[in-house]
Formats: sequence, C-alpha cells, structure tokens
Amino acid sequence: MGAGGAASAGGAGAGAGAAWAAARLATSTQVKATSADRATAARFRCARTAASLLQLAGSREHLRCVVTQREYGRAAMTLSTALTALARLRDGNTRYASNVRSLESMVSHTRRGAHAEGQTPTAIILGCSDSRVPAEVVFDQGLGDLFVIRVAGNIVAPSQIGSVEFAAARFGTRLVVVMGHSGCGAITATIEDMRNPSKQSKNIRSIVDRVRPSVQSLLDPDMPVLDHATLVHKAVRANVRASCNQLRHGSDLLEQLAAEEGLLVVGAEYSLDTGLVDFFEGVPRESQS
Ligand SMILES: [Zn+2]
Repeated sequence: MGAGGAASAGGAGAGAGAAWAAARLATSTQVKATSADRATAARFRCARTAASLLQLAGSREHLRCVVTQREYGRAAMTLSTALTALARLRDGNTRYASNVRSLESMVSHTRRGAHAEGQTPTAIILGCSDSRVPAEVVFDQGLGDLFVIRVAGNIVAPSQIGSVEFAAARFGTRLVVVMGHSGCGAITATIEDMRNPSKQSKNIRSIVDRVRPSVQSLLDPDMPVLDHATLVHKAVRANVRASCNQLRHGSDLLEQLAAEEGLLVVGAEYSLDTGLVDFFEGVPRESQS
C-alpha cells in the first residue's frame, strides 16, 4: 500500500483503528520495535500492545501513515486491558494447580537476549516473600512476564507503592495483584505478638506494625472468638484488602491511572494446599469466575 492508500484509509473515520490497520497490513514479515517506536508507545503508556501491533504490521511506516498516534494509542489500550492480564493469570494458575506447565513459560529463559532490550510485564504482583509462593511459578509465567515485588506479609510501605508506580508508568502494565497466602508467617507472627507481646528487632517490628491494623478488629473483645485457623484466614484476607486500598488511595499517580487508563488493583489469596489462587477482592463483575 502506498502513501495515497494509507491516507485514504486514515480518512475512513473514527472507526479506522490501529487494530484494523495492523490486521490489514499484517504480512509474514516481522519487524522489531525500535527505541523510537517504544518512545511513541510509552507516550500512551501501553508499550506491550503497541510493540505487538508493530510486530503484526509488515511495515511500521505503513502503520504510521494509516493510523494517527491518538488512534494508535487508543486502540492499543483497548487491546491490552487489565482483564486480559487477569484471565492470563487465572489460566496460568489453573495449569499450575493441575501440575501442567506451558511450553512458553518453560522455554522463556532461552529468549533472555530479547528481554535485555526492555520489558513489558503482563501484571504487577505484590506478594509475600514466603518461599512457597513464587509468583512466576504459581501463575505459570516466564521470563519477563511479571513485575514482582515480594515482602513478608505483602505489606505496603512507600517503597512498595513506588515500585508499583514505576512499573505502571514505565511499562504500561495495567493489572496489579496483591497476593496473600494461607498460613502466612507474617500474619501468625502478628497475631502472636498481639496476644503475647515480645521483644523484636525494629525492622521486624516495622512489618508487624503494618499488619497489625488488619488483625486488630478480629481480636476485638466484643467480637466472637475465632478458632486459630479461621482467625488466620480472615486476617490474611483483611491484610490483602488493606494493601489493595493503600495502593488504590496512597498514590496520586495510581489513582490517575485507575481513573483514566484502566489500572486495576485486585486482591488474591494463594492456597498452600491446593495451589489455587482465589481472586476475592476488587475483581469486576464481568470477570468473576
Ligand atoms: Zn507470608
């Protein structure tokens, strides 16, 4: 297609989006996004899908002729949504819990050279440091797929918020998952400390103090007494909800991305027994399973 055809296609109206153009121009020739392409995509905070569109198109010059930058960004945003990322995590966790791994995740390390140029993670995971809950494994994802922040008790301190801001703004990632897990040591340690205060290092204390408000209401003398397993279960979930709320409301940047660009913060609990992840907090109705 020449420049004239491109201009004509571009004048077809608002319906002429990037996805349509990419599909029409797709050829067997794959192209690689340049640093200029990535800069363009980054302006729309959607590098992953923009790069995919570029790879679909046989010629990036054609794509640029057909689609205005605004259309390009809007269509890319439509294609790369938080819900798509959430579905990908659900599928991966189903495979993991069924003792199946995808070929893609198994061989992803062989493409480490390609990842050296940059990253476009599907999701941001704030999870516990527990050795039994590695996000890439439980979601059956590969190298470069997840931006993972791990800290005991999946608490939210300024450095965690900053890490999420960085990934959301820099890489265009639109799904944030706060993932707690059954039998969390940070939660049980907090419960024990509240029942029998003990001397701790100020650094461990800083973690316990951030978990404490979530446990406090569950130990209220006016509330029914819970057995230990139920107490831990409820505390894990309360702590996840608290972390989600801190991410949603503790950052002007994340609030803006949520309001204007589809950033989604959801809460989940991983079961050490079954290997399944239950997304129980903040999942839109249309995506609930
Ligand atoms: Zn834990």
